[in-house]
Parts: sequence; C-alpha cells; structure tokens
Amino acid sequence: MKWILLVFVGLALGIAAIPASRDAILKVAVPLVETIADRGASVSERLNPFAEEKSPLSGKFPLSRSFRDHSREWTFVDGSRVEGYLVAANAETAQFRLADIHGVGEVPLRTLAQKDRERIEGWIASEGTDGVAGLPISLKNHQWPRQWGGKDTEVSLQQTPGTNRWKSRHFDITNEAGVSAEALQSITMICEAVDGALSSLPLPLPLNWGRAPDELREIVIEDSPATEGVVAQAGYWDGRTGIVHIHADFLVEPDLQLVVFEFDKPEKAQRYDVIVHEVTHQSMGGLMYLGVPAWVPEGIAEYMAATQYAPGAYFFDNTHVALRHHINRRLLGDRIVKNRRMNLVRLEKLMNRGLAEWNEIVATGDVAGYLQYNEALLVIDYFFHRDHPHGAHFRRYLEAILGGLPEPEARRHHLLRGRSYQQIEREIHELWRPLGFTINFQDRGELQAGDVSIDWGAEGVKRTIASRRAAMLDTQ
Ligand SMILES: [Zn+2]
Repeated sequence: MKWILLVFVGLALGIAAIPASRDAILKVAVPLVETIADRGASVSERLNPFAEEKSPLSGKFPLSRSFRDHSREWTFVDGSRVEGYLVAANAETAQFRLADIHGVGEVPLRTLAQKDRERIEGWIASEGTDGVAGLPISLKNHQWPRQWGGKDTEVSLQQTPGTNRWKSRHFDITNEAGVSAEALQSITMICEAVDGALSSLPLPLPLNWGRAPDELREIVIEDSPATEGVVAQAGYWDGRTGIVHIHADFLVEPDLQLVVFEFDKPEKAQRYDVIVHEVTHQSMGGLMYLGVPAWVPEGIAEYMAATQYAPGAYFFDNTHVALRHHINRRLLGDRIVKNRRMNLVRLEKLMNRGLAEWNEIVATGDVAGYLQYNEALLVIDYFFHRDHPHGAHFRRYLEAILGGLPEPEARRHHLLRGRSYQQIEREIHELWRPLGFTINFQDRGELQAGDVSIDWGAEGVKRTIASRRAAMLDTQ
C-alpha cells in the first residue's frame, strides 16, 4: 500500500509534479480511498491549543457579569417594560438581550425611564472603558453580499531595514523563508482582505476582540519543520501566541522555485486557502471564549477559504460550486469528480464537539479528522444560505451567545427551532444530492471504497484540450 500512500501525500502537499502515471495509479487507488486515512497529512493545521486558557487575549475581555447574569425589568419613558439582560452601553445607546425571545436589540438611552437610565450610566462610569461598558455587539441585518473585494487593491508593505520583517497596515510579517517581495505583496493582500470580507457578512463576528486598535497581527512565513514520514501541514494558527504560521514550501512551485500567483486559475487560488483559513481564526480568536463548539470557527474559516476566488476577492453566491471544488480538491486535486459519497459523523455529534475533542480527532491522523472540516463547512453553508437566505437564524444565534446566552440554549432556540438533528440531516442530504454529494450520516466519519468516482471521460477531454493548447504554443 506504500505507493498509494505516496500518491496521496503528493496531493495533500499540493505538489504539481505528479508522475505521468498518476492517472493509472489513481484509477486503482480510488476504490481504495480508505488508505488515505494512513497519510495523516490532509488537514491544514496541527493540534491547535485553541481552547487553551492561558492566552494573551484572555485577560483583555471586559466582560461584565453583574448585569448579564440576571435579567431584570427595564422601563421606558412611555411606560412600557421589557425583561432583559443588559449587554453593553455607551452614552447614547444600550443593548439588551431579551429574556423571552433570546434576541439582542439596541435602544437609545433617552428612551429609557430616568431610573434605569441612571443605572446604566452608573455602570458605564464604574466599569466602562472610554465611555463604553460591556462588549457592544455589531448588530447587522443587511442581506448576504454576493461578493466582496476583487478590485485591484495595492497594499502598503514596508520592510524594517536590515531585518526580515515587514509591516502592512494590520500585519507584522516575518519572512523567515525568504519568499520574494512580490509574493509577500500578494500574501499581504490576502491577509489584509480577510477582515473586510468577514465584516461584509451580516453576522456579529467578534473581530479583533481583545486586540488594541493599533496592535499588528503577526504572521510568520517559514519553511516546514522537517517531519518524519508524511505528516505535513500548510500552516496553522497558534491560539496561545495568536501568531499565524504559513509554510512557504506549500506555496512554492517546485520547478520554478518561486511562489507563483496565478489567480485566474482556480486550482492556484485554492493553494492559498490555508492563509485565509488561519487568518480567519486569528481575526476571530474571541470566539474561543464564548463556548461555541468547534464546527463554528472551523466552518467559518473553511467557508472563507472556499469562497476566495482570487487574492482578497470572494464570491458568496452559488456557494455550492466553490464548496464542491474545495471539498473534492482536498482529496483528489483537480480531478473531475462524477459522484461523491460522503460518510459524515452524525450532526448531533458534530454540533456538540468541543475544540479539545476536535483536535484529538485531528491528531489521530484518521480520515475522520479532515472529514469534520468538510462537514463543518457544509453545516455552516447550510446555516448561512439555506436555513435562511441571509443567515438570519445563525445571526441571531451568534447575537444571543455574544449577549451571554449559553451556547446550547442559543442552538436550541435559534438553530434547531424545534427540529431534531435528524430532520436537519435529511434537509442537508436532500439539498446536496442534486448538487454532487450523497451524504450519509453515521457514527463516525469515514471513507469507504467507491465513495469517489472520477469522470474519466471528462478528464480525457480536459487532457486533449491541454495537449492541443500545448501543441499550438509549440508551433508559434
Ligand atoms: Zn481551523
């Protein structure tokens, strides 16, 4: 089985120089895909101490429990009353989570009765920072954007003289691997765009929580540490230090010894998805203090990685195309896949899986480790686009959690809404069947013989076109 293993390691590393016999090998290998489980190289991250409590961020959260732990009645000048938890306030507005509907709303302070207004002003005076108490939630309710970015955006990048460090507007980049300045420019563009793209979504994402406004985020571009055997990764975010590590050799074309950015080719654009995935984690490090299960941050990171189609440019429309490409590519490179059966862990298990358990499964090197990334992406896409066309239920779920509601209650109230996990599994199954995935939910994620079939006819057409094009170039 060694040779099969090698083939898939090549795919996992994104190496273009695959032997000519790859097609022949793949033909044999596809029915035996379970052996992929041996390679342990498919996930982009190594065991990530995501849930670690001793993070540099942990001391910085100005959480006030005094108001959030007990709901009380608030009275307005017109005499009306609501039962709710005070979430955040400044001199102008106050945000409450209403006790009955578990929704978060914002009211002008002047609409509250004087006694309650004074209570809030007292809270701001005693616990506020710069006139703000609590953590204001960015309440949004616009439609889901169809795309973001895509304009030719130059980023400013300054080298600190005599060092390998470069500074952009929001990032401090250490270029240990010695990639070219031009490549650094593109990497910076990808990094700088992530927050903008995340902000464009109608979700109250806790971007840069706990980070000072002028604090630069660290990226280290390094060579992969020498690893025994097949374990390799394209990069990771270290939750303890907040640093994103990118392994340059995953971005290098072996023949050119250069980082090549040809973003018109989707397979190339997707080589940089790891940068987007990890920078998304870095943006939303605050999520880990909110007790959300792992599928939420991982699903969002995968969603961003899958929807980037050019550096810093995202398509959020017809996401099934981008998702299908992203998920199949991990396993099969650019092969044209005819049918893909996916055996995924039961939704109830995935949606209750904490970060520690998630990381344990990744660390085993079992195929279940990367299938949970695929599933998190499918589930996030379901809640972003299918459960509601503009992700409103998921938005309210996040608002409720940010407003202090324990995650299991927020999930029950806003995501499940009286449905069983099995009902949602059926919906996801029905949704994807005509879109190229036959999803089977079972006790654990696994790959079985016959789960993937490649469209060899279409592959033949693709090869013919490529060789004709090459011949034309030769004669020019
Ligand atoms: Zn991740």
